[in-house]
Amino acid sequence: MRLLSTLLVALLPVAAPAAGQPLSPAAAALTEYLRLDTTNPPGREAAAAAFLAARLAAAGIASQRYVTADGRTSFAARLPATVPPGERGGGIVLLHHLDVVPAGEGWTMPPFGGEVRDGALFGRGAIDSKGLGVAFLEAFLAAARLPDRRRELLYLAVADEETGGLAGTAFLWERHPELFAGVEAVLGEGGSNRVVLGRTFHFGVEVAQKRPLWLEVTARGRPGHASSVNPESAAHRLIAGLARLLEAPAVWRVTPVARRFFEQLAPHDPQAAKVAADLDRIAATGEPTAAIVPGMGGLFLDTLQVTQLAAADRINVVAGEARASIDIRLLPDSDQEAYLAALRERLGGGFDIAVRLAAPPSPASPDHGPVWKAIAAALGGERVPVVPVFIGGITDGRYFRQRGIAAYGVSPFEIENLLLRGVHGPDERMPLAAFDAGVARSIDLVRRLVAPADEITESR
Ligand SMILES: [Zn+2]
Repeated sequence: MRLLSTLLVALLPVAAPAAGQPLSPAAAALTEYLRLDTTNPPGREAAAAAFLAARLAAAGIASQRYVTADGRTSFAARLPATVPPGERGGGIVLLHHLDVVPAGEGWTMPPFGGEVRDGALFGRGAIDSKGLGVAFLEAFLAAARLPDRRRELLYLAVADEETGGLAGTAFLWERHPELFAGVEAVLGEGGSNRVVLGRTFHFGVEVAQKRPLWLEVTARGRPGHASSVNPESAAHRLIAGLARLLEAPAVWRVTPVARRFFEQLAPHDPQAAKVAADLDRIAATGEPTAAIVPGMGGLFLDTLQVTQLAAADRINVVAGEARASIDIRLLPDSDQEAYLAALRERLGGGFDIAVRLAAPPSPASPDHGPVWKAIAAALGGERVPVVPVFIGGITDGRYFRQRGIAAYGVSPFEIENLLLRGVHGPDERMPLAAFDAGVARSIDLVRRLVAPADEITESR
């Protein structure tokens, strides 16, 4: 499988710039941005915010930094609407995150080197999400040069998305909600395009996602030396409790958002068509069918993963306390309180359960209306279908969606799906041709949203 993938990557059509050909200004900016190590934890977003501030300042645009007590820095700049109030639409936020996940092992290029090989720019964050951040920056700068704008535009770069956003978007909503007055829609990461062997089958615009429920479970017991008999070991209690959780049967459920997703995707994707044909059977039996595409099972289940374990720091010590982190992802309409009550009952007595991150249910963002139309026209136009998608991951879009603001996960980039394994993995890279085309598409998208209607020509 690995070999096959490597072979396929080698066969991909690569529009590599000739050796020595200069990078586009946007790609050069991304190179610099990728060299700023914003690994989270700890984040260190301040330098990245300063980098963006300098680029805006060079165009005469002021910006504002928002810093938590721990120094976690988020960043915003604003372009006001210029048409008379009666002719204005709601505000638009262009969102990405400054932080990146740790580089990890297995890179063949330096993860914070900003180096180009075979027509692609390598670096942690190239796709997730500094590439999008630079594309949005270019679109924002282009919007600043428009003679008139019918919507206010907010460029927003946040800290801490990769560990849940509490020190980033959640902090901004809690401490600076005035930032978002009058906002109609947010564009951010989470777009999921299907691109295979040089052909783009569809642009997927995320309109719904699962919800995190991150728990820390603690067991207590009698500490001591490992040579003694100790039936009250905290570690043993924890292991037994977690085993009971893992034994819980999985109940497959077809939510309205999953049904809509597969039915809308079906005409453009044979695998989705097979799943769509099986939805009634899945709903009736509570079990999966063969058609479910690998990696899509999570769209039908509340999932639970035990991800971190901690007890004593030495082999011959029985710890008085043992802890597990559990990453649960709920379907959009699952009842969190009922889920937690069932989990408590299975776990049994003697455990402390702390909720580290949770999100209330929220409706899917509309796949109609002026914002959706602008996205569909700019991404796909007449050329490629644009479909609303439901994703298993989470993005900061949820902080807006749960407050009734439409949030759209968009990727303006046509990136071979095989390359997406570099996201959170080794050798994350942005093909330069796809990047430059995506920057142009982002400029077009924002212009469609903010330029007065009579200034938008159907040039694409
Ligand atoms: Zn991301």
